[in-house]
Amino acid sequence: MNLRIPGPTPLPPQVEAALRRPMINHRGAAFADLQKRIVARLQQVFETTNDILIFPASGTGGLEAALVNVLSPGDRVLACSAGAFGERFAEIAAAFGARVDQVSFPWGAAIDPASVAEKLRAAPDTRAVLVTHNETSTGVLQPVEAIAQAVREHSNALVIVDAVSSLGATRLATDAWGIDVVITGSQKALMSPPGAAILSISAHAWHAYEAARAPRFYWDWKEWKKWAVKGETPFTPALPIYFALDAALDLILTEGLPMVYARHARLAEWTRTRAQTLGLALFPDPRYASPAVTALRPPAGVDAGRLIRHVRDQLDVEFAGGQGALSGKIIRIGHLGYVHEADLQRALDALEHAMAEVELVSV
Ligand code: PLP
Repeated sequence: MNLRIPGPTPLPPQVEAALRRPMINHRGAAFADLQKRIVARLQQVFETTNDILIFPASGTGGLEAALVNVLSPGDRVLACSAGAFGERFAEIAAAFGARVDQVSFPWGAAIDPASVAEKLRAAPDTRAVLVTHNETSTGVLQPVEAIAQAVREHSNALVIVDAVSSLGATRLATDAWGIDVVITGSQKALMSPPGAAILSISAHAWHAYEAARAPRFYWDWKEWKKWAVKGETPFTPALPIYFALDAALDLILTEGLPMVYARHARLAEWTRTRAQTLGLALFPDPRYASPAVTALRPPAGVDAGRLIRHVRDQLDVEFAGGQGALSGKIIRIGHLGYVHEADLQRALDALEHAMAEVELVSV
């Protein structure tokens, strides 16, 4: 199966081999070394000197781990939303009692940093601004650097970025852009299986932690940091994901981050061009089209769900469909992580074949 969804992504053979490693004592020297090695290399990918914590969780667990450590019930939060994952971030904040203001844009659009600034001027008591870097549901890469700058200029709010589907696919300069908390997952551009949520935490965010009263136990940052200093974790770590990340980070840093990002940009551009020659239309604003996932509208009369099923069942290529209101309306092609020209060539050849078949059937 040519898995072309925006995560989980295919694993390189070196990562698959790492997953066969026997378990180790998570309270021993080998684990301490492993964790140290992984964190040091993750800091390079995050471009940060901030603390990095690794939780056994999916990306959503990571989002919750971010919010419960910096917020108290009643705190004001500004959620930037232009897609399913931006909305989910706002929902998590609301679930923990935050007063959530939204700056919303149509799905497929980019968030305008000027609107963020305007909202913050009107609500100077805002404690945190939530942004989704790569909105996986629409294929938009949001202008996080400019949004973070707007926040810095207009408030003292924390900038919290969901980078679940962007980190490792495109640059996210955590420290240079002034981002307080970055959350990512192991299963996308980091070329590892699902199972680890990774957070970077700035000094400003640690300061917010001291005042935060949201309920937390499993996610409590201080507990994780206390144990990380000893080379351990408070609860059992997802060992196979550590083995996988160890191998995957070697591959990423050997290729070189600039080369990894250039590969993603090149493959995204190629995918958009080829899909458009097949008669599909790019769904998002092209100026913000994602390097990790391409969202496309099929031509009139062609049902997106049918196209996806045909490609999967007849041609062994798996694309993703739309989420929420976009269900049945778009197809999404993942091109992040362990992916090269030939994978997309085969996937788009299959799409071309399916378009002909599906159109034939629908006349
Ligand atoms: N945020 C973004 C941008 C995502 O793409 C995803 C998953 O696709 C998530 C959050 C949620 O991650 P998970 O499904 O691992 O909880």
